[in-house]
Amino acid sequence: MKNETILQCFEWYLPDDATFFSKVKALAPSFFNMGITACWLPPAYKGAAGIHDVGYGVYDMYDLGEFDQKGTIPTKYGTRRQYLAAVSALHKNKVDVIADIVFNHRMGGDSIENVTAEEDDADNREKEISGDHPIACYTKFTFPGRNGKYSKFVWNHTCFDGTDWDAGSSRSAVYKFAHKSWDDNVDSENGNYDYLMGCDLDMSNPAVIEELTNWGKWYMDTVQLEGVRLDAVKHIEFCFFEKWLADMNAHIGRNLFAVGEYWSTDINHLLHYLDVNNNCLSLFDVPLHQTFYQISYADGNMDMGAVFSHTLVQERPGNCVTFVDNHDTQPGQALSSFVNGWFKPLAYALILLTDKGIPCVFYGDLYGIPPVENLETLIRIRQKYAYGLEHDYFDDQDIVGFTREGTEEMPGSGIAVLMSDRNEGTKSMYISERFAGREFIDVLGNSKDTVTVDASGNGVFMTSPGSVSVWMQKEEAEKKLSPFSDMNLWKYIGE
Ligand code: CA
Repeated sequence: MKNETILQCFEWYLPDDATFFSKVKALAPSFFNMGITACWLPPAYKGAAGIHDVGYGVYDMYDLGEFDQKGTIPTKYGTRRQYLAAVSALHKNKVDVIADIVFNHRMGGDSIENVTAEEDDADNREKEISGDHPIACYTKFTFPGRNGKYSKFVWNHTCFDGTDWDAGSSRSAVYKFAHKSWDDNVDSENGNYDYLMGCDLDMSNPAVIEELTNWGKWYMDTVQLEGVRLDAVKHIEFCFFEKWLADMNAHIGRNLFAVGEYWSTDINHLLHYLDVNNNCLSLFDVPLHQTFYQISYADGNMDMGAVFSHTLVQERPGNCVTFVDNHDTQPGQALSSFVNGWFKPLAYALILLTDKGIPCVFYGDLYGIPPVENLETLIRIRQKYAYGLEHDYFDDQDIVGFTREGTEEMPGSGIAVLMSDRNEGTKSMYISERFAGREFIDVLGNSKDTVTVDASGNGVFMTSPGSVSVWMQKEEAEKKLSPFSDMNLWKYIGE
């Protein structure tokens, strides 16, 4: 069985030229060749900023680049036709498709309603700082450009708990509508973190739930999906998605893979969310990302032996998607915490070559903001060589490693990985008696020596300072090294 590897197939700063889905279509064969098994595509529906919207400012979820709304027919990434062609090309190349689902908020309403609302303290949403008063807000969504095609549902203020803009006084604040309460079962940051931005969906309104279910069925019928990535789940009633996912699975007659974005570095918040959802989905390992970020700026002063402490991949590996960076952690973004470049190959070796969690590779790291050295090689190593029992050596502040014994089913598999966040060094690690007398070299070329495994299956492996070495049987490493380093996909597709 192949190792699963997700590609987050976009980054924040792609050009606003409606060509990206065509690019994905062209890249699909190279994703397969590289060992990518699933692509997480960006939100594919029209956002409030039209062609400039990355996709999280949701306006009309039925407009997959089909209607002249918000200034253009296509979304930032292309037309509905180009989107469906990209999905089809991925499937032809045996790559699963994971769609980005944004249910927390809506933006860019078509007309103003006069609504009674109170203002709440932004830092403590349970604290009211003004009494009920009239505000003018863009809470009516009629989608005139779509004119009722696919759905006649019209959103108005009764579908929302609150908003952040009073067009009457031109004032921005956290406004909660009269006779509404923030959804109870959400993250407790800021008192109650139901409200994030835009018009916040009222998940206690049955009409809203019904519409989100109807939309989901329409979307599943329109696009063949293998998985969903659920945006901003800490701001959405915690019990919502278990039911919604069950409804989708029943509708399509198979189980979707689901991963939620719960942005918290506190492992207990993630475990609580998984518990209340009966582990029916996975979450991104935000604590692990945070640790990578801290180590990458710590000049060797953090404990590499504890890199996996208090992480989701350690605590709940069966419900975990690991990642190094994403579109939100990029410089200039809301959760900016971009892992320092020298550490990225180490971080990717940790998520791609160990045996727990499903790793998610970031498009920006693969194709260049700038590209991470040897990343494609690491993905290929995961695909072909990172199999078998794992032996861990997270037993030092600076120099840590692990081995994989390999399996009979994957000829040539079996690796030893050693890395350091400070000085160069060596470590004796057990890999397997099967390799007794065999020579190993570092396929990444960061260490130049040859290691011979002894009769009891141990080898003394090496790492350079602030570096990672991936040791493979010499004949395998030599066989695979040249095609690995020759690939330049942008040239390949004529970019
Ligand atoms: Ca919310």
